[in-house]
Amino acid sequence: MSGNLTCKELVALISEYFEGTLTPDVRARFDEHIAGCGNCAGYIAQLRTTIRLVGTLREDDVEIPAREALLGAFRDWKSRAGAGS
Ligand SMILES: [Zn+2]
Repeated sequence: MSGNLTCKELVALISEYFEGTLTPDVRARFDEHIAGCGNCAGYIAQLRTTIRLVGTLREDDVEIPAREALLGAFRDWKSRAGAGS
C-alpha cells in the first residue's frame, strides 16, 4: 500500500484507527485522507460520536461493529449522497 488511501481503504482501516493500532505511516495517510475528504471526515466524526454515546464502554474496549457492517453503512451513505459508481 502506498500513496493516498482511497475511501474504501480508509473504511477498511477504521477499526484499527479507533483502536489506535495503525502504524504511524498509515495513520498519517489516514489523517491526510480525512483532511481532504469531507465525506470520510464526517463519517469518522459520526462514528466517534456513536462510540461516545455507547458511553459505558471505555473507548479502547469498544468492539467496533463488524467491518462488513461498516462497509455496508458506507455504501449506504454513498448511495444516499448520490456519489454514484
Ligand atoms: Zn474519503
